Amino acid sequence: MSANDTWEKALACSTACTRCGRDFGPKEERILSVFDDGVICTACKRQEEQRPDHAEASRQMVARCIGETGRPWGDPAGFCFHHFVPFRCR
Ligand SMILES: [Zn+2]
Repeated sequence: MSANDTWEKALACSTACTRCGRDFGPKEERILSVFDDGVICTACKRQEEQRPDHAEASRQMVARCIGETGRPWGDPAGFCFHHFVPFRCR
């Protein structure tokens, strides 16, 4: 299965941030890391964005993601999109 088929089940409803280990609230927004595709909290995302290699990691993630899913990164249903736009568990 492609990342698009599995990301929601595998990632969207993760119960804790993979970076800091903090538990998510049921309605709390989370977002995917451009470095390792981990589900992280928005506070960890802000730290990630401060890294000097964040822009380069973002470019690489987009190229890889489009290659893997065959969808444009801006597809709101897609895996790629949520590296940049927070989401909630549905
Ligand atoms: Zn976190």
